[in-house]
Amino acid sequence: MDAARLGYLQAMDIDVWVPRGGSPAASDPAPAESDDVAALGWHALEERVRRCVACALHEGRTQTVFGVGNRAAQWMIVGEAPGMEEDRRGEPFVGRAGQLLNSMLLAVGLKREEVFIANILKCRPPNNRDPAPQESACCTPYLYRQIELVNPRVILCVGRIAAQTLLQTDTPIGKLRGRVHALGNRPMVVTYHPAYLLRSPGEKRKTWQDLVLALRVFDSGGEPA
Ligand code: URA
Repeated sequence: MDAARLGYLQAMDIDVWVPRGGSPAASDPAPAESDDVAALGWHALEERVRRCVACALHEGRTQTVFGVGNRAAQWMIVGEAPGMEEDRRGEPFVGRAGQLLNSMLLAVGLKREEVFIANILKCRPPNNRDPAPQESACCTPYLYRQIELVNPRVILCVGRIAAQTLLQTDTPIGKLRGRVHALGNRPMVVTYHPAYLLRSPGEKRKTWQDLVLALRVFDSGGEPA
């Protein structure tokens, strides 16, 4: 195993056992609200999001945070909403949580630029409060259209808010993680949000298990649950 990969695994608090003389084996939608949005291509969708005033969050934003990465990715990561740094830079997951997300991805052999990363909300809620139901309802058609356009083989949903919003449930995240859900006809694995893992590093081990599960779904061709 190369030193960089070892570093990413260590950032996830994963013990790596290196056998003598060798390296370890690799790890043993709901419909869019508006038909209009559901028909948009990438350019028109990005423009629509950039000009969106559907909820009050547009008043406080520096800019919208559309999403970033490979638009033909086989993995899609879905988070909650931009924070202060994301609002400033116009890119999701660029703060400390974003660095941990990068390490999580690298731990399963994925570079950030290989996946597509988006959030439920495209605008920052003030003081990092949870998205209001009406804000999510306004914004999710954009995310569903992104999922359609990317057409990923597996979706990794990070955090309680994103998971409960997409699965339309109030089941606690501890019960949603660790299994494969179907989002429309696509498989989705839920895990803890990297910001939560920064506060509760003891949960990284479970997140590693979720990543391995997502990898298994990916390797099996992305069969839904
Ligand atoms: N948390 C999220 O859920 N998304 C971001 O883009 C940043 C932090």
